[in-house]
Amino acid sequence: MTDRFPLPPGDWPVMQPGWVWLCGAGPGDPGLMTLNALNALNQADVIVYDALVDPRILDWARGDALQIYAGKRGGKPSAVQKDISLRLVDLARDGNRVLRLKGGDPFVFGRGGEEAQTLVQHGVPIRILPGISAGIGGLAYSGIPVTHRDINQTVAFVTGHDQSGETPQSVDWHALARAAQVIVIYMGVKHIGRISAELIAGGRDPADPVAVVTDATTPRQKVLETRLDRVEADIAASDLEPPAIICVGRAVLMRQVLDWQGMAAGAPPRNTDPLGRGRAAEEK
Ligand code: SAH
Repeated sequence: MTDRFPLPPGDWPVMQPGWVWLCGAGPGDPGLMTLNALNALNQADVIVYDALVDPRILDWARGDALQIYAGKRGGKPSAVQKDISLRLVDLARDGNRVLRLKGGDPFVFGRGGEEAQTLVQHGVPIRILPGISAGIGGLAYSGIPVTHRDINQTVAFVTGHDQSGETPQSVDWHALARAAQVIVIYMGVKHIGRISAELIAGGRDPADPVAVVTDATTPRQKVLETRLDRVEADIAASDLEPPAIICVGRAVLMRQVLDWQGMAAGAPPRNTDPLGRGRAAEEK
């Protein structure tokens, strides 16, 4: 069969029947998908995809490929994780070439590790295809560099809720407040009140800048800029809806000069020296 979308010349891996490829689809914008993902879409007989996979990406699948929705979104009826994994096992055992497509990167807060482990435990061969995670690519689309030499030498990626849906007990929020100059929170909207209070109690400046980016990299992307002690109230007063990435730390200030989407739409940069260095960006 000829590929629907020819790839540049290269040694592209061939999907074999009975295999499952766990693949990241990126945070939304189909252009952020990898060539490996496109190669997989060209070949897969079955695609099992999550709620956060952009529908435009599924349009690129082979017309005769079976598409199975395995969404798991807070508050909505969701497939049970174990059932999804066992479904993948069954599909592979039936001789399908299975593409498990997940939002962002499959191994970043996406249970890709558990699914992959279950497949291996059932003797199903796997390939892992990483993707651009929302906590990096989504912030870049809002003009926030996740690291910047004048701001941070550390960045922490943290989930705002654990398996029970509560603020994770296993996260030492006070230690995080001191140790991570930039904190990127996934799934954080529901518990942002608790999280921001813990961070402030742990010594974080209540005025620390915060950005909330929803539907990052899609045409619906919205960005709320606020500060740590106001983020809960400002989200409540807004019309923002998950999925959201929340970024805490001075990296958020860089948006004043790097909001490239705003600039492309004609807005001038708000402040070309948001860190107040008083000199050109690359002068010592
Ligand atoms: N594996 C994914 C994360 C899955 S957890 C990744 O690497 O990006 C789901 C959470 O990711 C969401 O609750 C939200 O916090 C974040 N997320 C994923 N896509 C997003 C997007 N387009 N915009 C904002 N947040 C997003």
